[in-house]
Amino acid sequence: MAIIIDGNATAKALKNEVKAEVELLMTKGAKRPPHLAAILVGEDGASKAYVGSKVKDCELVGYKSTLIKFEDSVSESELLKAIQELNEDEGIDGFIVQLPLPKHIDQENIIQSIHPDKDVDGFHPMNFGKMALEMDAFHPATPAGIMELLERYSINTVGKMAVVIGRSRIVGRPMSILLGSKGNPGDATVILAHSKTKELEKYTRQADIIITALGNPGFLKADMISEGAVIIDVGITRVDDTSKKGYHLAGDVDFPSCAPIASYITPVPGGVGPMTRAMLLKNTLKAYKNNY
Ligand code: NAP
Repeated sequence: MAIIIDGNATAKALKNEVKAEVELLMTKGAKRPPHLAAILVGEDGASKAYVGSKVKDCELVGYKSTLIKFEDSVSESELLKAIQELNEDEGIDGFIVQLPLPKHIDQENIIQSIHPDKDVDGFHPMNFGKMALEMDAFHPATPAGIMELLERYSINTVGKMAVVIGRSRIVGRPMSILLGSKGNPGDATVILAHSKTKELEKYTRQADIIITALGNPGFLKADMISEGAVIIDVGITRVDDTSKKGYHLAGDVDFPSCAPIASYITPVPGGVGPMTRAMLLKNTLKAYKNNY
């Protein structure tokens, strides 16, 4: 039976470390704590919940946070103006624009208008490019959180074969870059799979590490993996059920069939998800140290 990677406990430990560091900085005479701002557009329930928990995380570790809300009907130029103000505000170390944005707004334009030094989500092409070149940069929170889990569970990735399923800008593609970068975790030989990949199971059966980030509940089954594989499940899909809540969250991995074969596995929920939030705090601390 695989060791279950506890994302909740690891994220809690990480947040406590961040909190302790902020307390130390303040006792040493820092004039202010780190300050994270978030822009939220519209009334989407999931986006509101995500931003709400990010603000709560800030309180927990002693950061200042600012939430800027806009109606769904906000124009792109109004948003760009707010971003410009945050870019110029010396009291703000980093900020995020909660995605997705309404269809009438060009998401790419918005991401590119964020100053790379304040881009704590690590989505700006400057940070992405620097990450790809193994230069100092903000890394997107989800793949960075997975690297942190691999490190804290002492999972050796050097020389291993890794298959990343899904090539999104925020998860799969940066994940493939980080796993293939020099270091440990890193130094893996990486296959980046997507919907056009043929005979995916040919690769996954050879893989030492499999990262699923496609958003297809129960996609990865026992007959697609080999004995001892490390399985990291990024997927989070709401699946309707007859429970009181009316739904449950499902990962991309068929956990009951894969867990007995794998060496390590992340659950959903409680695996990668909590680490994503924690890594945003870590990136904000980095921005603060650069800015302060
Ligand atoms: P996305 O933008 O929806 O992209 C999905 C990717 O999966 C695409 O690259 C797609 O290929 C690929 N794909 C789809 N079906 C496939 C198949 N049958 N075989 C192989 N590849 C396939 O993905 P995302 O935003 O990265 O999200 C993926 C999942 O992770 C979602 O469930 C999301 O909710 C979750 N997520 C979790 C966290 C967290 O913190 N835990 C963070 C972000 C996302 P093409 O490129 O060819 O279309």
